[in-house]
Amino acid sequence: HREDGSAKRFLLKLSGEAFAGGGGLGVDPDVVHAIAREIAAVVRDGTQIAVVIGGGNFFRGAELQQRGMDRARSDYMGMLGTVMNCLALQDFLEKEGIDTRVQTAITMGQVAEPYIPLRAIRHLEKGRVVIFGAGMGMPYFSTDTTAAQRALEIHAEAILMGKNGVDGVYDSDPKVNPDAVKFDALEYGEVISRDLRVADATAITLCRDNELPILVFELLTEGNIARAVKGEKIGTLVSG
Ligand code: UDP
Repeated sequence: HREDGSAKRFLLKLSGEAFAGGGGLGVDPDVVHAIAREIAAVVRDGTQIAVVIGGGNFFRGAELQQRGMDRARSDYMGMLGTVMNCLALQDFLEKEGIDTRVQTAITMGQVAEPYIPLRAIRHLEKGRVVIFGAGMGMPYFSTDTTAAQRALEIHAEAILMGKNGVDGVYDSDPKVNPDAVKFDALEYGEVISRDLRVADATAITLCRDNELPILVFELLTEGNIARAVKGEKIGTLVSG
């Protein structure tokens, strides 16, 4: 790996739902292994990868709130769920021979380092994959916003946003509307004004204000992570 600053650095945002495989809940090791193999391949090629994983395969705070729970407490449950995804990915990356560090926004010394941005950058420079867990550590935020914030703080050039079962951004939900039209490129403002479901508005405005591009692509298509890293024309690119 290159330590002279020439390596490309990306923040890969992974759908928590994808981790569940067909089951919807929990972690399907086969899916995580397949994702780990793809990440390992691009890291071996010299690309620096930091990862944020969603938690939708365990808990979403807003959903628990609808069923009567306190929002902040259920958001903490959501954040803790993301850490299990991080550990699963860490395990399969290590099996691929890739060094990894999990850093969490909620301190849990036995399983992860605390979030220390400068240390995360150092890990990346050494060819390690850094996996950020527990979101921002704050209720009312999302892992998409976490991805944007972490990407900015570690100076990643873009967010590679891997989605589950959809290959980009459409003008309406392609699972519901067979005539939905896919965008190859979009501006941040259009995402917000047309209420397109790329990420939540907090995440999009953070990217817009700091000119951080987001590539939305289908995560589980074999070879797509490498295609995204190489800048091939897949998915939808959201930029200024
Ligand atoms: N969460 C949070 N703060 C953060 C990140 C996540 O409170 O900084 C919680 C929130 O409840 C969210 C859950 O963790 O619903 C899982 O995160 P994710 O963003 O994946 O939610 P999803 O996109 O799956 O709804």
